[in-house]
Amino acid sequence: MPVLIQLSVWCKPKHLAIICVMKKLFQLLPLAIFIAVLVAWPALAPLFDSAQRTFQRFWSPATDTQVWGDAGSAILPATAQMMASRHPPGQALDALQKKYLRPMFGDLVDRVQVNYNAKLTDRWSSGDRKIHLGVVDSTAQAFCDRIYLQASYQPGDTIQLVALAHELTHFQQCLQLGGIQNFGSRYFQAYYRANQKYADNQFEKEARAKERQFITTLCQQINCQNPHGRYYINYRGTNTKLPIRIQE
Ligand SMILES: [Zn+2]
Repeated sequence: MPVLIQLSVWCKPKHLAIICVMKKLFQLLPLAIFIAVLVAWPALAPLFDSAQRTFQRFWSPATDTQVWGDAGSAILPATAQMMASRHPPGQALDALQKKYLRPMFGDLVDRVQVNYNAKLTDRWSSGDRKIHLGVVDSTAQAFCDRIYLQASYQPGDTIQLVALAHELTHFQQCLQLGGIQNFGSRYFQAYYRANQKYADNQFEKEARAKERQFITTLCQQINCQNPHGRYYINYRGTNTKLPIRIQE
């Protein structure tokens, strides 16, 4: 009997056969577990994953920044949808707006839709998640390629043109980040990092910097320093005087 021969090799004669078998099985245990895990892996993998996630949550709980990011990635697309459902389709930029905005924003000027006389929202929510953003763009809001302006359409109006430059910057940021979900996530994180101060949000700082850059470029094109008797306004501390209206 081969088993008996084997046992006689492993066991001293004074040992009981059952003890010898158990000793041998114990030696083979790691191999047996390995084979069992291998065979049962398809069933065990999900359990292993969930245990790993629980472990991670326990040891590295989500930071506040992650929480804000998650909220933003859900809330911005949901709010964009809500805004779109409340308004008719937006209109394209007019020829004059495109002419002056194109040098800075390229083909975005052909891709954006604008709603004038828009009803802006102060409710930012998705399902049961709500967020109070404090002061947001108070006269205009951008949801990537959809811009909502509270004002009526005013052809050639320079303040409206500057507002469009600001909101187009948000469209640009949205594309650079790969779409509205990512933009929502990063915008809300930046808002949180700015101690929930709208004006200190890096995305808003960038949009304001773009506004100033736009005003400078516009002035070079329309010669702001040479008013020819037209009425000029001083625009937002940039020390540049823009005409109220540009006429073609
Ligand atoms: Zn803004």
